[in-house]
Amino acid sequence: SASKLPDVKTTIFTEMSLLAQQENAVNLSQGFPDYQADENLLKYLGDFAKEGYNQYAPLFGIKELREEISRKFSSQYQVNYHPDAEINITAGATQGIFTVISAFVEKDDEVIIFEPAYDCYEPAIILNGGIVKNVKMLYPDYKINWTEVKNLVSEKTKMIIINNPNNPSGKILKQNDIEELIKIVKDTNIIILSDEVYENITFDGKSHLTLAKYSELKERTFVVGSFGKLLHITGWKIGYILAPEQLMNEFRKVHQYNVFCVNTPAQFAIAKYLQNIQDFSQTSTFFEEKRNYLKSALSETPFELLDCEGTYFLSAHFGSISDMQDKDFCYWLTKEYKVATIPFSAFYKDKTDEKVIRFCFAKKQETLDKAIEQLIKLK
Ligand code: PMP
Ligand code: GLN
Repeated sequence: SASKLPDVKTTIFTEMSLLAQQENAVNLSQGFPDYQADENLLKYLGDFAKEGYNQYAPLFGIKELREEISRKFSSQYQVNYHPDAEINITAGATQGIFTVISAFVEKDDEVIIFEPAYDCYEPAIILNGGIVKNVKMLYPDYKINWTEVKNLVSEKTKMIIINNPNNPSGKILKQNDIEELIKIVKDTNIIILSDEVYENITFDGKSHLTLAKYSELKERTFVVGSFGKLLHITGWKIGYILAPEQLMNEFRKVHQYNVFCVNTPAQFAIAKYLQNIQDFSQTSTFFEEKRNYLKSALSETPFELLDCEGTYFLSAHFGSISDMQDKDFCYWLTKEYKVATIPFSAFYKDKTDEKVIRFCFAKKQETLDKAIEQLIKLK
């Protein structure tokens, strides 16, 4: 056929950000901070560029940054990853995810994903000839039905993709979820791709359970991270992949021809910046305040809020305001109330509409206030 991805259109994030611009609306749709990153980090970037760190980095990523990531995982989770053999720097989490999928998924291999699902998994699976097997998580708990997962697993299952904390639901996995996953993959060759880009954004004292902490999972898992989320620099597009050596070797075969290496001065700047961070829980504290602020304001509106345990997204059921389809509701809200959001149906292959939309609260106070001023007018 003329298209390898006939059903793919511009992403919902691009669509809603564009609409926000056209409508001069407050943009709480696409997930990105609208405030400045730490001055020191920005200064380091310029410094390294001026000092001449402007040529190709090694394909694994610079050693200084891999060592910082290794230190982060041992201090935060008491988990060891060898900086040379088991860590690779990527061009954001997106490239890491695409490359893992490309390195392992072959024609007719099945990959299990959970919906609502972040948008970059499915196209990568399809481009590699794989078959998507989706398990739905539904309103209001968005829990994984593990019996359904168990029934889907077969000889053909090559990979399971987990996203924890979950974009868009804001839910985090619990100990019992992990135990179920361990039981399911035991005695199989299934590879796990664990998208943990929001690992440092969890709330109410709940801590993130990285799959790397469980030896039965670590041996078969790629953990994906993103400095875009941790350091408020989504435009730098620097992330990382962690995996046991054997899996990492396969990843690198593809990575070296996919990008070969990623932005050099940005890697140096991030490495230097991380050297001064002892406590990664600051990011959660920072976002918890924003979540609480938006949550308390929206509780004065007819929206029924989902419990947000992590990520920088707060989601809400709008059924008592309107019976429109969620995407129509998002268009209406952008045009009439000048606040742009993301409809959950965009995260389901069959566009399941449960009348739930997502607000991004990684925004400065002034932006949140502008949005709130509009939203409290809703009846
Ligand atoms: N996974 C999830 C769940 C995300 O929300 C995002 C970014 N919004 C990514 C991956 C991509 O991260 P990056 O910008 O580092 O490519
Ligand atoms: N991950 C961001 C979100 O969920 C969007 C990134 C993008 O636009 N691809 O909003």
